[in-house]
Formats: sequence, structure tokens, C-alpha cells
Amino acid sequence: MGIYDDDDKNEMTEETFEEVTLSEDSEESDDDTSEIEEYCYICRRPGSSVNKLFKMPNDICICDSCLQKTFDTINSSGIDLNDLAKGGNMPNISMINLSDLQGMLPRSKSVKKKKAKEKEKQEPVIDIAKIPAPHKIKESLDEYVVGQDEAKKIISVAVYNHYKRVATNTQDDIEIEKSNILMIGPTGCGKTYLVKTLARILDVPLAIADATSLTEAGYIGDDIESVLSKLLTAADNDVDRAQTGIVFIDEIDKISKKKNTNQRDVSGESVQQGMLKLLEGAEVEVPVGASSKNAMVPLTTIDTKNILFICGGAFPDIEDIIKERLNKESSMGFKADLKDKYDDEENLQQKVVVEDVRKYGMIPEFLGRLPVICAMETLTTDMLVRILKEPKNAILKQYQKLLRLDEVDLQFDDDAIVCIAEKAKEKDVGARALRAIIEEFMLDIMYEIPKDDNIGRVTITRDYIEKKGGPVIEMRTVGLIEEKGTAGKLGMA
Ligand code: ADP
Repeated sequence: MGIYDDDDKNEMTEETFEEVTLSEDSEESDDDTSEIEEYCYICRRPGSSVNKLFKMPNDICICDSCLQKTFDTINSSGIDLNDLAKGGNMPNISMINLSDLQGMLPRSKSVKKKKAKEKEKQEPVIDIAKIPAPHKIKESLDEYVVGQDEAKKIISVAVYNHYKRVATNTQDDIEIEKSNILMIGPTGCGKTYLVKTLARILDVPLAIADATSLTEAGYIGDDIESVLSKLLTAADNDVDRAQTGIVFIDEIDKISKKKNTNQRDVSGESVQQGMLKLLEGAEVEVPVGASSKNAMVPLTTIDTKNILFICGGAFPDIEDIIKERLNKESSMGFKADLKDKYDDEENLQQKVVVEDVRKYGMIPEFLGRLPVICAMETLTTDMLVRILKEPKNAILKQYQKLLRLDEVDLQFDDDAIVCIAEKAKEKDVGARALRAIIEEFMLDIMYEIPKDDNIGRVTITRDYIEKKGGPVIEMRTVGLIEEKGTAGKLGMA
């Protein structure tokens, strides 16, 4: 039982609310406020993507379609608007006075307007001359990441090509395809660390997400798009910078297709499906300053066309699939090999091909969008020793720096370092175990040493790590390291 016909509605809206015009002039003005874009309070679309915005009291704007929907709802609910005008109440609805909400409502956040002109020009965000060549990228990675030479090489080339593609930004016949990367390697071998180092070298924003927390949109967990909102935050809400950033999705093997399940698979295959459009390039509405679209936050649009996606995963037991394939290949024809030829091979993961990953449960469409595959090596004891000593910010160097601030010289016997690496190797969690082992025995040192100003040098020995003895403590007198002793008196033995 509607009271107002359509014309009446329009009349009312136009009379009551001031329309926000987004004219060219207002965009061009130098005023700071022109950088702030109004957005619809109900659907949170920005002014530039709706027909009209109507300004309400208290800085609230509502777009024409939301306003129309509101009137339609009132009309279809049979509420007598005449009655309302006279001060009557709607059944079951309590009215809110907007002025009571002053201070509680979010004000327009600084969503930078995409200037139409800038968009037209399509200026490349990255200068091609500034992209380091692949060998330079690898050299910089070498300073931090130990080993993994093949992976570093593959990634350096892929990243170089990716940013060349972004920089040229050509729309001609030969379109360079995106080189998203799939990284396979056991836990703690440096996947995340490699990507973090890469982003720092290239000075691009990086977002790291965990595929295990992702679910199909609408289910409890993070939407796939929340990853982009992290990227936007990493880029200080600068949309252009975010659009050329890197997204690293860890534990990607956890969203493989579930086998033999009758339940709805909201965190496996459907997440892969959901990621397809992101990987390829799509315009996605992303909340600014929050990870959920449910919060009352403005939205902005991010184009994922130039975002580099790197997916990493341990893919446990993929070796079995690789072995099976290799055995099948080698058991045919004249060159047939023994069946157990690959049983003892350590770095079988290095032989991975797309087919194996598909068999593991990743869907072909998903893999098609990750054209670069690189496998990381399992860290050996030698590599662990190098990780302790060599990188620019090696763990041992960090502790030495800490003690140097107390004017104490910290030394590690070579044998002690090998012992730490051996202990870490036993734990089978890659380089992650190193820090835990060191923290354990360094705690006493860091606690006891500052007690005595006379201590000049501490040497960590294998015995101390194996809990068979104490570290070697040398005292100083007037700047000279003189007296030798063990840590017995410090209670560290
Ligand atoms: P994952 O492969 O599981 O992502 P991470 O990259 O998080 O492992 O590695 C954990 C930590 O181990 C890193 O923070 C880094 O300090 C160290 N690390 C692992 N691999 C290497 C490596 N190859 N070179 C130097 N440090 C490494």
C-alpha cells in the first residue's frame, strides 16, 4: 500500500538531500579535501562508481540506488508515510536520531581519488631503467639467502620479466604473460625469507598470507580478497604502489583438492577457484584500512593485473608422486631401470613437474596461472652452518653485535657451530630450529655476562652446547684480555 508514486519519491529525494557533484572542477582544485572521496554509507561504493551521491546530515552520503531501495522497502512494507510525517511510529522499528550518532560514525577516510586524467595517460609506475638485471637481483639475494641457487636464478628471471612487463605496459599484439611463481620446498628452507628479501631489494610492497586461513567467500575465515587489503596497507594505502606489489601465499598445498570427501569443500578446491581471477588480473573492491568488507569502511578498487603472485608450499609426500612418475618413465623400453632407483634420492622435489602438482590436488586452471615452478633444496648440515655465519644479518652476527654493546667479544668455535647445525638438522624443520637452539644456550650468557664488567671475551664451545662444560671466559684488565677461565664461577657450566 504505497502512498507515494514514483514522481513523489524523486521530488522528496531531490528536495531533502543535497546532491554531491563530482565535477571536473572539484577534482582539479588544489584543495586537500578534493583528494578525499565520498562513499555511500550503505553499499560503501565510492562516489566515482555510483550515479549520484546524496548528502545527509552528519557527513553521511547515500547513493541513488541505495536510497531507491530504501524507499521501495518502505513502500512494500505498507507503512503509511503520512502517518510518519505526523510523528507516528513504524511497527517494530525504532527510529534513530542521526544527530545522536555524531562522533560514532566513521567519517570519510582518505581514499585517494583516481584522477581521470592520470588513468588516461596510463603512465608506467615502474621505470624500466631502474629494474635490476636478473644477475644483480641474484647477487643481492645471495647476500641474505644461503644456497637455493637454482631457485634464486629462476625467481630473479621471473621477477625481472614481470617488472619489464609492468614497465612497458604495452597493449599491442604481443602481450607478455604474467609470470606468477609456484615455489615448492620443505618447511624452513627459506621460501618466505626469499620473497621478503626480494621485496626489500626491489622496494615494492609485500603481503604475506596463509592459505590455510582462506575460505570460500561467505564462510568463516578470510576471503581471498583480504590478501589485497593487506597489500594496500603495506603500500600505505597508495593504490598505485599496491598494484605493482608482491603477494606471497604460503601453505598453498593446504588448499589442494580434498580426496574422498562428501562434505562441501569450502577451503580447498573452491579457494583455488576463487583465486583464479586474482592471479590472472581482475579489478577487485578492497576495504581500506580493514581486512573485512563487513566493517564500515570505504572500498577502493585494486587491479591485480600487475601484482606478482608467489605461492609457496611444502607439498609433503609429493616425492611419492614424483617417484611413481619417474619409475614409470624408466621402466619402459630398453633403458628400463631398477624399480627402487629413486628411493634414496634426497632432493627428489627438484624433479617436480606441473603434472605432479596436479596429481597432488591442485586444479589445472590454477596451475596454468602459475607458469613458473621452482623447487627449493632441503637444507643440509653444511648449508645450516653457512646460514649461521654468512648472511648479512646472520644469527651469530646478531648475538655478537648485542654483546659488543656490552663491550664483550663473543666467539663461536667452528666445532660449536657444526654442533648447532647438526642439532637443527635432527629436528627436521629447516633453518627454523637454529634460532631455538641458540636462544636456549645464549640465555645464560646474556643473563650472566652483564653482571661482571671485567669479562672481555666469551667463547662458545661444542662442550657447552652439548651441556658437558661451560663457555671459555676471558677477563680483561685495562683494555687487555688477559685472564682465562671457565664459566664455572658464573654458574653457566
Ligand atoms: P619457509 O620455507 O617455511 O617459508 P622461512 O623462509 O620462514 O621458511 O625460514 C625461516 C627462517 O630460517 C628465516 O627467517 C631465515 O632466517 C632462515 N632461513 C631459512 N632458509 C634460509 C636460507 N636459505 N638462507 C638464510 N636463512 C634462511
